[in-house]
Amino acid sequence: MAQFNAQNLKTIGVFTSGGDAPGMNAAIRAVGRLAIHHGLDVMGIVGGYPGMLNKEFETLSQNSMANIIQRGGTILKTGRLPEFHQADVRARAVQNLREAKIDALVCIGGDGSFTGAHLLWQEHQFPIIGVPGTIDNDIAGTDLTIGFDTAVNIALDAIDRIRDTAASHDRLFIVEVMGRDSGFIAVDVGVAGGAEEVFIPENPAPVEQAIDRIRRGMARGKKSSILIAAEGHKPGRAYDLAESIRKKAGFDAKVCILGHIQRGGSPTAADRILASRLGANAVEALRRGDCDAMVGVQSGVYVTVPFTQVIGFKKRVSGDLVSLARTLAI
Ligand code: ADP
Repeated sequence: MAQFNAQNLKTIGVFTSGGDAPGMNAAIRAVGRLAIHHGLDVMGIVGGYPGMLNKEFETLSQNSMANIIQRGGTILKTGRLPEFHQADVRARAVQNLREAKIDALVCIGGDGSFTGAHLLWQEHQFPIIGVPGTIDNDIAGTDLTIGFDTAVNIALDAIDRIRDTAASHDRLFIVEVMGRDSGFIAVDVGVAGGAEEVFIPENPAPVEQAIDRIRRGMARGKKSSILIAAEGHKPGRAYDLAESIRKKAGFDAKVCILGHIQRGGSPTAADRILASRLGANAVEALRRGDCDAMVGVQSGVYVTVPFTQVIGFKKRVSGDLVSLARTLAI
């Protein structure tokens, strides 16, 4: 684990970066409140890496973190900055941070944001701890990321509603959930929602397999089915699946794309608690002098994992759970 001299740590900066996720506010609150509890100052960086470049720094007080734990999104806003791939841009960001007397950072975001953070340590010895925040839950080194539980529950609520319609009209539905490179949301929602088939980017099921399941269900009198599809690299792919099923089997499938609905709204209790613990652990890690690392949770134990073991290592969906989803659905 990389170390810095934490004796002179006076001001911690905190920012949210990449895609927003419900529970990020709870993490900001935990970082801010714990830092203040330890007599440190806290600065919020508004809008992620672009805010660093544009000097959008604001002091966070106890009051500015009040009444946010239940709110989705991020009060600090989030942003993307493709120019952060350039070393000179990163150097300007560090210069601005040092001018603002920020000694260390907590970065709440995903793999891309951590890559930028890792470079700030490598190139400028600027200490940063990462907090995993993404609804996709695909970050290595942690079993859970902030926002995933909320996204799953929102999708599940939608599926329960759709099932009512599907059952009333004897219909086949394909519900598309978020997940570009990973099927974590799709698989959890598939198991919890009793879906007949789950299409995920990691382990795509052939359409024929889904058709076979639907037919077997029909043979024993089942009249409605729900298939879950992760969006993959083509949001709207559920329409392609529906077309393929229509062509191959003659079934008319209705499509429902949940889209950004899954990102918004009030975080679940599980996400608020996870975010509170990870945010607090990030501050404790910095106080110990740990940096260039991410805080996470593994088998119920809260850990600090070097960025070098996180960045670029995508966590994969459990094959067991995918099999279980399929086995239980028949
Ligand atoms: P996430 O953190 O959710 O994975 P992104 O991949 O969009 O989100 O990354 C967020 C931001 O992190 C990018 O807009 C960019 O500013 C910074 N970033 C991402 N990848 C790199 C990289 N390879 N080098 C430097 N900065 C990066």
